[in-house]
Amino acid sequence: MSVFPQNCWPMISNIHPIPAFSDNYIWALSEAGSNQACVVDPGDATPVINYLEDNELTLSDILITHHHADHTGGLRELIARYSPRVYGPEPSNINGISQFVHEGDQVELFGHKFVVIEVPGHTLDHIAYYCDQEQPPLLFCGDTLFAGGCGRLFEGTPQLMNQSLAKLGALKAETSVYCTHEYTMANLKFAQAADPANAVLLDRIHKEQQKRDSGVPTLPASVQLELDTNPFLRCHEPALVQTAEQRLGHTPQNEVEVFAAIRGWKDNF
Ligand SMILES: [Zn+2]
Repeated sequence: MSVFPQNCWPMISNIHPIPAFSDNYIWALSEAGSNQACVVDPGDATPVINYLEDNELTLSDILITHHHADHTGGLRELIARYSPRVYGPEPSNINGISQFVHEGDQVELFGHKFVVIEVPGHTLDHIAYYCDQEQPPLLFCGDTLFAGGCGRLFEGTPQLMNQSLAKLGALKAETSVYCTHEYTMANLKFAQAADPANAVLLDRIHKEQQKRDSGVPTLPASVQLELDTNPFLRCHEPALVQTAEQRLGHTPQNEVEVFAAIRGWKDNF
């Protein structure tokens, strides 16, 4: 039994984006009063080490969402330096995972339980980590759900990706969505082309542009905002069905065909 009453869990006090490469964020989690930190998808060790040293932290845990090098490239150096626990998907070709996790498994970080959600599509091994013991709940979803968009289908089918996105879209509406890239403005430009009459989307574009103009990350997003503005979560909406019909030249048979048409257009947008 927890000593904390419902809805009164200790908060993860700091979730910080460490910029990496041209547009990646490596999310660092830490708590006040502790020198331990967790990072999500460390594609590069150097900015992580700099952040940890600047803040007098040590690395206790790493969460990996999928096998791409810009999410795993820093593993070897960070493991050699800090010997953290490393959680990640199986099967995958990632070297350094100490604990393979699957759908429904729980990962404990700073006394908080994160549930593993399998979300194949961008890659077949892709997983996300969800914690609803925080208010708002936290979602680390790698390259599956982006702010205003979704990852490319390198390995999975449109059907798989559509199902995976639906799982994330069904999480609590207020969930904070921490994805791995600052692709938001490009995604929203496409979203506007695909869903031109969406007033919430127009308002979002204005607000996110203000953040970028101030040099501030657009993340985290929220599940509700994605449901309202992200075309890849809106393939059942008449506006997106109509857009897909224009692209395809015929009436799509189902939501997966709408998703495939919209995703195919984005690939060449
Ligand atoms: Zn990726």
